[in-house]
Amino acid sequence: MSDHYAVIGNPISHSKSPALHTAFARQCAQDIVYGAIFGPLDKFAECVTAFRASGGKGMNVTLPFKLEAFAIADELTERARLAEAVNTLMFDNDRILGDNTDGVGLVRDLKENLGLTLAGKRILILGAGGAARGVLRPLLEEGPSRLAIANNTPSKAVALKEQVANAAHVSGGGFSDFKGEQFDLVINATSASLSGDAIPLHDGVFADGAFAYDMAYGDGNTPFMDAALAHGVAGVADGFGMLAGQAAESFHLWRGVRPDIVPVIAEIRANWTR
Ligand code: NDP
Repeated sequence: MSDHYAVIGNPISHSKSPALHTAFARQCAQDIVYGAIFGPLDKFAECVTAFRASGGKGMNVTLPFKLEAFAIADELTERARLAEAVNTLMFDNDRILGDNTDGVGLVRDLKENLGLTLAGKRILILGAGGAARGVLRPLLEEGPSRLAIANNTPSKAVALKEQVANAAHVSGGGFSDFKGEQFDLVINATSASLSGDAIPLHDGVFADGAFAYDMAYGDGNTPFMDAALAHGVAGVADGFGMLAGQAAESFHLWRGVRPDIVPVIAEIRANWTR
């Protein structure tokens, strides 16, 4: 009998996780069924309990439940503990293991799919919410020479540096605090692309040959990608590869095999529907 997994979120109908995991299962010859569960805002824990009771083996967790998933886990991986957020649950006998695969998903996409080198590079992260928090440590482990966190509310970026990435070459502040500095990689981890708002990017923020990455994704360029192209960057990408990377890492946790994300990204993009 197939093992059952699901993603839970609110909203959830747009989720690409079922398509990703179904493609991974086919590629890796794993007998699984992967569904999508709409979680009412006040019923996250009940939904998890019901899925587990029906024989479910694990879940992916998306907005707005990553903090609740962190709270219900009996055991946490180191990266989930540092991120204080959980996007992957594994049901192991009577325990719930919580993991956070967002950071490794981003790093895999940047390195393996986009072919970027992160060691020695100057990286600017825009935003200081849950997504930024989850990727800081995995990015730092790649050895950038500089990591700056710029946010609308500067105090949140300062707090993030102090709590998660307290090193001499890391700093946090407002968007205007980094005027005059140049970066090789600028990552948009704000939700500005979802609202269509522009992010204030200073002239010269992009070094020669710089790359711009938006964690948001969809059909076509995001406003941030278009703004970066107007500044003359060498390349842009949206966050679909990060989504695929985090999904592959969850799949690895559950099934013990790590799928190749590159052909799966191409397959799903070719059949993209909103
Ligand atoms: P949060 O709500 O936790 O954080 C939102 C961040 O965006 C905050 O730093 C906030 O600033 C900032 N922000 C909101 N609106 C604006 C604006 N108009 N201009 C500038 N900054 C703004 O969200 P998440 O961190 O969970 O998600 C952020 C983005 O990352 C979303 O687009 C999400 O879809 C994407 N994401 C993608 C993933 C992937 O796998 N590709 C995984 C996870 C997230 P302030 O603190 O001042 O309010």
